[in-house]
Amino acid sequence: MRGHISKAVLIETDLRKAIERNEFRLYYQPKVNLQSGKMIGVEALIRWFHPEKGFIPPLDFIPVAEETGQIIPIGEWVLRTACIQNKAWQNAGFLPLVMSVNLSNRQLYQSQFVDVVRDILTETGLAPEYLELEITESMMVDTHHALPKINELRDLGVHISLDDFGTGFSALYYLKEFPISKIKIDQSFIRNCTSDSNDTTIVKTIIAMAHQLKMGVIAEGIETKEQLNFLQKSLCNHGQGYLFSKPLPPEELVPFFDEIEDIIHREGIPQELNTKNLMDEMLENEKYHFIAEKILNYMKEMNDSLSTVREFAEKINKESVHPADNLLAEIDILEATIQAVVKIVKP
Ligand code: C2E
Ligand code: MG
Ligand code: MG
Repeated sequence: MRGHISKAVLIETDLRKAIERNEFRLYYQPKVNLQSGKMIGVEALIRWFHPEKGFIPPLDFIPVAEETGQIIPIGEWVLRTACIQNKAWQNAGFLPLVMSVNLSNRQLYQSQFVDVVRDILTETGLAPEYLELEITESMMVDTHHALPKINELRDLGVHISLDDFGTGFSALYYLKEFPISKIKIDQSFIRNCTSDSNDTTIVKTIIAMAHQLKMGVIAEGIETKEQLNFLQKSLCNHGQGYLFSKPLPPEELVPFFDEIEDIIHREGIPQELNTKNLMDEMLENEKYHFIAEKILNYMKEMNDSLSTVREFAEKINKESVHPADNLLAEIDILEATIQAVVKIVKP
């Protein structure tokens, strides 16, 4: 009989007992500044150690927990445990880190979610700027519900980052409307970013777009020196991946804190080259604004001249039998083109 019961049902039954039985652990994976090599934060990732079945990966049980609603107590446990840990590191005298916590749809749509976050911050004494919530593109689809919540969280002082960017809807509208401070490039693009020219272009484009939108950008799943060097040259701000460290339990991660900061100096491109790249990008940005301004002025002048030509053509039409119809149609097209270009250029 038992063979007919789906894996999800078994997981659901066991999940109910997992919090009480203390079967969950949080592991932490470092996030590193790709220019300075400094560790800027960690991402909390849940681990379930089942007494009989052993380790169950999050992707096997988070979707079930999401479906059954069990993600609410589990998510709250994750948030509280992560904040307690971060505060403990600060109390122990480590440089302050930002703790990132993954959210699920159901948590965000929970009516008192903002209160839950506020209460946990108060209870643990963690300042809100040291907490970051990772949301995914699918959570923003219902903008009407999600946007006020995310705005309230931002008003609390918590950071919001966009996880797995590029795998979901990637509607640029969301980036414009939501108070997102950082985009996380999904590891599926990083995997072949040095060997597949499409991935190279996608990664570079996401970085450039994030910077133009004044957002930070972090690459997930960096495993090799080549990927690191490519991302440094492309001016990706931050990175995360097995090259620096796998997610580890806190007691195993702490002894590595100093070593993680050495990795960039050992494997990365020379610091001077990094600084030069940054300077070049700043100049390039300046140049972009300068050119954009020139184009806008040029378009404005062109638009003014077109109005004069249009007036003239309309006058001819009144006086004779529509000899200027074609000209008017051309003017319409030119005006529409100018408006389209202005929309693109306007920074
Ligand atoms: P995510 O948030 O995108 O997390 C990144 C995943 O990539 C983690 O898998 C991490 O262990 C893995 N990873 C990190 N660096 C590398 C690398 O260099 N190479 C490779 N191949 N993988 C790397 P993990 O821990 O299995 O988590 C999978 C997903 O489960 C997470 O994706 C997240 O969506 C979800 N998840 C994990 N913990 C939680 C949680 O506490 N709450 C919620 N709602 N979801 C969670
Ligand atoms: Mg994440
Ligand atoms: Mg991710």
